Amino acid sequence: MPELPEVETIKESLKAKILFKKVKEADILCEKLIKYPEKPDFIKNIKDKKIKNLQRKGKFLILKLSHNYNLVVHLGMTGQLLYFNSHQSFDKHTHVLFNFEDSSQLQYNDVRKFGALWLVSDGWLRFVPGLSELGPEPLKKEFSLEYFQKALNKKSIIKYLLLNQKNLAGLGNIYVDEILFRAEIHPRRPSSELSDLEREKLYYTILEVLGEAIKARGTSVVNYMDGNSQKGEFQRHLKVYKRLGNPCYNCETPVERIVLAGRGTYFCPKCQH
Ligand SMILES: [Zn+2]
Repeated sequence: MPELPEVETIKESLKAKILFKKVKEADILCEKLIKYPEKPDFIKNIKDKKIKNLQRKGKFLILKLSHNYNLVVHLGMTGQLLYFNSHQSFDKHTHVLFNFEDSSQLQYNDVRKFGALWLVSDGWLRFVPGLSELGPEPLKKEFSLEYFQKALNKKSIIKYLLLNQKNLAGLGNIYVDEILFRAEIHPRRPSSELSDLEREKLYYTILEVLGEAIKARGTSVVNYMDGNSQKGEFQRHLKVYKRLGNPCYNCETPVERIVLAGRGTYFCPKCQH
């Protein structure tokens, strides 16, 4: 699933291609992905809108359009936004097409169809589910060590706490497992029981792992690609995710897997306490 580093990379790759372009028309091939408004209004309202900026909030990508409209995209499990210089042929996994005035095209593809798109005016952004409840952005000043230490006082299993977008925005299953491994914290630990030192280590590890993953342009383990159909590189740096039974890079103990919050969770039983 695209997490913060992937959505950030998609945003930057698309910015270079579609900023200031005008949408000539949109074509919706799978209506269920459009959460708001209904298909005819979506098509009518996006027509002739210019892309004024691209933003990322957590795992949401927001295309700021002219006339105070916003195209909000959540990529779900397998969503892709791919840019092409000219109209491209597409397959059964292409569900929405955005054709620009200069005949370039943006395709929304999604194998599993858990993604979602909304077209809303500024005043309605807060009605996009989850968007207005996002916690601080981990790489911005608002995510301070002080804030994080307080957030950890909630009585929650540490993995759940980090996955909960209300506590901090943008982390998902892959990065949480990698962060907890690097911070040497067992994913099932109650967050309120972490020592001051562990809290500090975890905080800086979040910043470090996200920074490295953005630099590597994201992690391609399933079908993630940026707006130019380029894969990321961070999968080469994964230490525990999907490494069940393989020796830990630190201590050679086989990596284990448990299920937490319905998600496969990978960790080293010796390094993580
Ligand atoms: Zn280990």
